[in-house]
Amino acid sequence: MTSPEPRHAEWMGLALSEARQALATADVPIGAVVIGPDGTVLGAGRNEREALGDPTAHAEMVAIREAAARLRERRADEGARDDGWRLADCTLVVTLEPCAMCAGAVVLARIPRVVFGAWDEKAGAAGSVFDILRERRLNHWVEVYGGVREQECGDLLRDFFAKHRGA
Ligand SMILES: [Zn+2]
Repeated sequence: MTSPEPRHAEWMGLALSEARQALATADVPIGAVVIGPDGTVLGAGRNEREALGDPTAHAEMVAIREAAARLRERRADEGARDDGWRLADCTLVVTLEPCAMCAGAVVLARIPRVVFGAWDEKAGAAGSVFDILRERRLNHWVEVYGGVREQECGDLLRDFFAKHRGA
């Protein structure tokens, strides 16, 4: 695992703000952003599984959908029609290690780089339980930077579960 760049920590701050927005809701506070090739935010999302009653509404999925839609608009403005769904040269930044579904979505979106905060020893698919992002049998490999602002990302989750268990 390569050592994270300073901007990874900065981008994690954006994902953390997304995650904190979930604190007022019943959803587990996980946040994600997709950073475009120019360093701007293309998509942002937080876990909305409870709010939407949608088992696929993970932070990463929400952020990836938004980023793909935005890129598609941009490309349409430029007159391009093909491969609008590819998030080429983008970076997905998420507060918790992606699960198998989200790691699969990263591969399908051809996202080349993933930065995550806390490790998920129970369901993580970026090295903990599975390593879908670096699965050699798949035709797309992803650069992975784990443990970025790990403490803050993990504390957010631990606080949430402590509070909900106590309630
Ligand atoms: Zn997920």
